Amino acid sequence: MTIAHATAASGRQPVTVEMVDLYKQYGPTKALNGFNCTLNPGEMVVLLGPSGCGKTTALRALAGLEDIDSGRILTDGRDLTGVGPAGRDMAMVFQAYSLFPHLTARENVEFGLRVRKMGAGKRREAALRQLDLVGLADQADKYTHQMSGGQQQRVALARALAVDPTVLLLDEPLSALDAKVRVNLREEIRRLQQEAGTTALFVTHDQEEALAVADRVGVMRGGVLEQIASPTEIYGSPVTEFVAAFIGTTNRLDARSDGNTAYLLGQKVPLLPGSATGEVSVLVRPEAIDLSPATGDENAVVEQMSFLGAHTRVTAMLGDTRIVAQLGPSAALQLDVGGRVHITLHNTPALAVAA
Ligand code: ATP
Repeated sequence: MTIAHATAASGRQPVTVEMVDLYKQYGPTKALNGFNCTLNPGEMVVLLGPSGCGKTTALRALAGLEDIDSGRILTDGRDLTGVGPAGRDMAMVFQAYSLFPHLTARENVEFGLRVRKMGAGKRREAALRQLDLVGLADQADKYTHQMSGGQQQRVALARALAVDPTVLLLDEPLSALDAKVRVNLREEIRRLQQEAGTTALFVTHDQEEALAVADRVGVMRGGVLEQIASPTEIYGSPVTEFVAAFIGTTNRLDARSDGNTAYLLGQKVPLLPGSATGEVSVLVRPEAIDLSPATGDENAVVEQMSFLGAHTRVTAMLGDTRIVAQLGPSAALQLDVGGRVHITLHNTPALAVAA
């Protein structure tokens, strides 16, 4: 894992965050049910998971905005239980609309510095510097209603980073923006977080976003962390069916497994550690399947082809089994809807789960 160990402008060293055995219940709902997660210094961890799995509760618990029923939260070994949000010195960027409408962009960025009793001149200078870092030097005197959604979120980011927080918390900061702005801004958030060297927790339900910005992605389910790993590992080596299915599209194909190898469609596929044995389902990514025009008596038939720009998604039916493959432009050009195809499985390790 490569993590920037930059030192923040103030000279603050990036902190380690430990969330240990967190429990939080709302009535009958166990929002956090033994949640454990450690953020390494300067690391961006993205919590990903379906609606209601506890992502926001974990983030708010870390911020001190939500009391936990039990468990411990520590930064650099210091127990924060009982410390209020202000004492935690963290900063948060929310989904949207969190700027003060009666303040300009600069005044919004100055806000946290004013609370921290920084003098007017220094405050103004720091705010302008931070706005410059997010590419908004020329928008300093604008009010929220004069800025686009993306610009407002940049101001919110500048406001968060201006106070040089111990931890940067991002709660779905991009979900209200359109696709192109979202991609640009996520790259910017990542760059600024790395430059500042701030430990960060980012919550989203957008898997592509999570894979794009994270040092490590934590997949949550039912108030617990099901797996936490680098984007490539969580995509390529999911430890459970839930993680495999939640991140990316997955085919579920019947097979026989000896624990190391699966046998299906007359072919062999190597298996990931922890795979089931016997009659199993193998979870195969669309990009690990090739389809080519049939040359013999193959009976898989192309049902649908969707052109997606860089690649084409092709659905084929083999009896009752639906197989989704992702093909490059030249492979896709060889196929037609209704045509019979040959299926080739790549040698990519896959997870086998109980059938
Ligand atoms: P989403 O992606 O939809 O924001 P999430 O993963 O962030 O979901 P949380 O907001 O952490 O999930 O909520 C976890 C569970 O706790 C949900 O079932 C939610 O309904 C419940 N919950 C959260 N906050 C409260 C509250 N203040 N009162 C009652 N129930 C709550």
